[in-house]
Amino acid sequence: ADDFTGATDLAALLARSGARVALRIGVPAAPATDAAECEVVALKIRSAPAPEAVAQALAALDWLQAAGARRFYWKYCSTFDSTPQGNIGPVAEALMAALGTDRTLHAPSFPENGRRVFMGNLFVGRQPLAESPMKDHPLNPMTDSDLTRVLAAQSALPVGLVDWPTVAAGAVRAAVGPGHWIGDAISDGDLATLAEAVWDWPLLSGGSAFAGKLPDRLRAAGLLGAGAASNRPKMPAGRAIVLSGSCSAMTRQQVAAYGAGAPAFRLDPLALARDGAGATARMRDWLAAQDHPAPLVYATAEPDQVRAAQAELGTDRAGRVVEAALAAAARAARDAGVARFVVAGGETSGAVTQALAVDRLDIGAEIAPGVPWCVARDAAGPLAVALKSGNFGGPGFFAEALAAAAASAAAASAAASASGRGGARRAAPPEEEDAAAAALALTTKPSPLV
Ligand code: ADP
Repeated sequence: ADDFTGATDLAALLARSGARVALRIGVPAAPATDAAECEVVALKIRSAPAPEAVAQALAALDWLQAAGARRFYWKYCSTFDSTPQGNIGPVAEALMAALGTDRTLHAPSFPENGRRVFMGNLFVGRQPLAESPMKDHPLNPMTDSDLTRVLAAQSALPVGLVDWPTVAAGAVRAAVGPGHWIGDAISDGDLATLAEAVWDWPLLSGGSAFAGKLPDRLRAAGLLGAGAASNRPKMPAGRAIVLSGSCSAMTRQQVAAYGAGAPAFRLDPLALARDGAGATARMRDWLAAQDHPAPLVYATAEPDQVRAAQAELGTDRAGRVVEAALAAAARAARDAGVARFVVAGGETSGAVTQALAVDRLDIGAEIAPGVPWCVARDAAGPLAVALKSGNFGGPGFFAEALAAAAASAAAASAAASASGRGGARRAAPPEEEDAAAAALALTTKPSPLV
């Protein structure tokens, strides 16, 4: 996958099939000795120069092949985030060459999230891609909705279209040959039709929803074991923390909703830049004084506040001081025994997982479309992270994530007692579950902006 939260999105959609899915943050240095049925490698190459993106993708391919993988998927954003230089086309072609195949089919559609491709044109909700907010993206503005043209500009091989009438007629297989193919899909059914036609190609490409159609087909072909709830990792017991560094519109609502019912500490980039050690120490002292099961530490702010901080510090430094403080909050919480981390923001997720020193995540229950709980392990034992990019989830996401963690721990504990194993060891003390439920109830109150 070409970025971090895109990788968790892909992992979540694969895990819906009941398969065992693990996510690696970057290409692991050592060969896999503990490979899951589906392995996702999270890279950070969406905006990298094409040669660097290709080199990293090939390194991931090598690692996956050494781990025993036999089918490969090149995952990028459902809004086809790329520039005329790449990296969707160049990476796909490098992977094709390495795998000895001359074709791949691209299906970026994610109907559940409003991304649909019709006659080669990508729609975001009701808007063509080039009229959607993606036209103003700071790194890769999307100014053409016709994906065959967008992909042709960054590819050496020809680009064809499997148009919707062909998909609807079930005539995909007869329509395709060597080269890149953009697959139309306006529904999950269309994605399933595409998957049925080309599932046996060595390399497929696109968004997470198309990938999510593959496990059932691979299972039918005997390439994947039976799906089972027991493939999900066990949710660790322990207190929680919510860390928010995203300033997106949805995250601002989520912080306001959650902060209305739980203790919240606001990180101010200007104070952090003036006296980082002092401001971080105050945050740590505040955290140590909380007996709530899931306090909130956030830098999330309104656009004018963000602009003011960026004007004074520069965009990079403002981001860096905030990420460093949230990383410090994560470490302090972990040292205090916190086991569940809800994190908002793509870059923020990278900073927090780095601070927690985790590099393998096993994919658990899905909280919102494309946002799963992930279980990792450090020297102190298992811990769980829910990593959400800015606009994912609804206004109640933080409380929903905590409730989902409590529910998944309770379900595992009930299953263990039903099977009579281990004397029904509880996944979490009852008072913690009750307090998490209370936090959930409190955050349903209407609330002012924090
Ligand atoms: P998203 O997924 O919404 O893009 P990210 O975590 O990827 O969220 O990016 C948000 C960036 O904004 C991070 O680098 C974060 O440190 C920075 N940031 C957070 N709060 C503020 C703030 N109050 N002022 C300036 N920058 C901020």
